[in-house]
Amino acid sequence: MSVQRSLSAPRSTPILHKPASAGPILLEQPGIARPLPASVEVAKISLAGISLAYRTNSGQPLAALANINLDVRAGEFLCIVGPSGCGKSTLLHLIAGLSRPSSGNIRVNGKPIRGAGTDRILIFQDLGLFPWLTVRQNIEFGLKMKGLARGEREVKAREYLRLVHLSQFENSYTHQLSGGMRQRVALARALALEPDVLLMDEPFAALDAQTRDLLHDELERIWQETGCTIVFVTHNVREAVRLGERVVLLTFRPGTTKQEYSIGLARPRHIEQTDVAAAAREILECLREEITRSRDAEYGK
Ligand code: ADP
Ligand code: MG
Repeated sequence: MSVQRSLSAPRSTPILHKPASAGPILLEQPGIARPLPASVEVAKISLAGISLAYRTNSGQPLAALANINLDVRAGEFLCIVGPSGCGKSTLLHLIAGLSRPSSGNIRVNGKPIRGAGTDRILIFQDLGLFPWLTVRQNIEFGLKMKGLARGEREVKAREYLRLVHLSQFENSYTHQLSGGMRQRVALARALALEPDVLLMDEPFAALDAQTRDLLHDELERIWQETGCTIVFVTHNVREAVRLGERVVLLTFRPGTTKQEYSIGLARPRHIEQTDVAAAAREILECLREEITRSRDAEYGK
């Protein structure tokens, strides 16, 4: 069973402020920091008893996920952390409707999902941009699939290019852009479909630190402006604390929820902030055992 903890600091804590004392970051008892409203709210995404076993080449079943129970609120920024091979990507694929669980069910807005849909967009680490199309054509591609007329596509593509500050590059090809700019094209392409849910699979893992910091700021702003629900997978705990309202930690294979943390730090946050680092350290303590299990399984003891 998962435990909920709250990692927070006073709302007035300024950015990059060093707390007066290096006191404990666990300020409240489990579960009491963010009480849910009395009314029963339908979760944006609800995972109930989700398990998934793959069949390996030798024909043996491999339990990737086991009994995941998780509700994501509408408009929430949820981060999922876990060691390599714990089933993070598998979980996002399931929510995206690209694969089906062996057991359990997934609901979006209270309704069981039926395959993929433009209400839930998954951004992969390798982006999947088309090199033969310009930046704007890449964004228009999904809109065409959605059935928008040419004029509408152009207007919408430009709108989202503005949102990610890439208007000047609409006629460039993706090989003419930096890694961070390509990430923003992928983000604009996903956002242009106006999904309710953005699923992000380690999107910034391959970027240099400065570019990643800028994209954190940008993603936070876009999340606040659009109100979309974000499920963000990362193996980087600091990144999870920087971005998430809640961080869910998965165990090594089969992945299941080990612990949940409610992150109450004021925004905007910065990855190098003292309180972000302190919260990340606490989560990392809990993650370490799972990382060891992952390493032993993947590299041998
Ligand atoms: P993570 O994203 O946390 O690194 P994945 O979800 O990619 O983990 O994978 C979880 C486990 O399932 C891993 O052990 C991986 O080798 C295995 N796996 C992933 N996809 C397949 C597949 N298509 N067939 C068989 N095993 C798979
Ligand atoms: Mg993965």
